[in-house]
Amino acid sequence: MAAVPAVAMNGVKVGSTSQAYLESKAVKDTKSLISDLCRQFYNLGWVSGTGGSITIKAHDDSIPKPQQLIVMSPSGVQKERMVPEDMYVLSPDGSFLSEPAPKPYPHKAPKCSDCGPLFLKAYDMCNAGAVIHSHGMESCLVTMLNPSSKEFRITHMEMIKGIKGHGYYDELVVPIIENTAYEFELTESLAKAIEAYPKATAVLVRNHGIYVWGDSWINAKTQTIGIFMGAFGNQHDPQLDWLLSLSSL
Ligand SMILES: [Zn+2]
Repeated sequence: MAAVPAVAMNGVKVGSTSQAYLESKAVKDTKSLISDLCRQFYNLGWVSGTGGSITIKAHDDSIPKPQQLIVMSPSGVQKERMVPEDMYVLSPDGSFLSEPAPKPYPHKAPKCSDCGPLFLKAYDMCNAGAVIHSHGMESCLVTMLNPSSKEFRITHMEMIKGIKGHGYYDELVVPIIENTAYEFELTESLAKAIEAYPKATAVLVRNHGIYVWGDSWINAKTQTIGIFMGAFGNQHDPQLDWLLSLSSL
């Protein structure tokens, strides 16, 4: 089986993978799935034109998850117009194996998601199969209720049953990290939050959004819904109610 040399992301890491896996149905289907989900998430308000991102591992039963190829959405492409050919394919160590072709004006040169280093961290530390980064208004608003709060907590909410390891009577705790000027600068604080909250499957970023991961894309999507619905469930909070009313103006 022919090996494909990986282009180093940082000039140091170089990996290789089989050409057959790179051209497999699993990779093609994952590219299509991400473009479909981007469109759907755009319509849900979870991602904006260029804000937010999705990554999913190209699943193959014969390959352990840590060694599976990573498919990642690009930066700077309108989410509702994403197509499979826009996707990047990365080796598990983050080296680029396949990149989209440049498009004519007014499109900018292809660029992988700015969330790349954070996605890789979630893959490495949590053995995730998929990670969703959303700029959804609910995820921003719950971080604004108390600007000094380091956590979002909720319990007695049916939707949190969708979060791994949680039942109706459990308390869901999602850590909140502070935003930075550039997405990649969040990597270290995301890693620290994952370490400090081993049960958490999401990290909120104040005034910015949320990173949610799961064993599979279905699991990651279900958990995103659970957290967003949980945030809506807090609408009895007069401050959140007021903020939500502003967001719908
Ligand atoms: Zn973002």
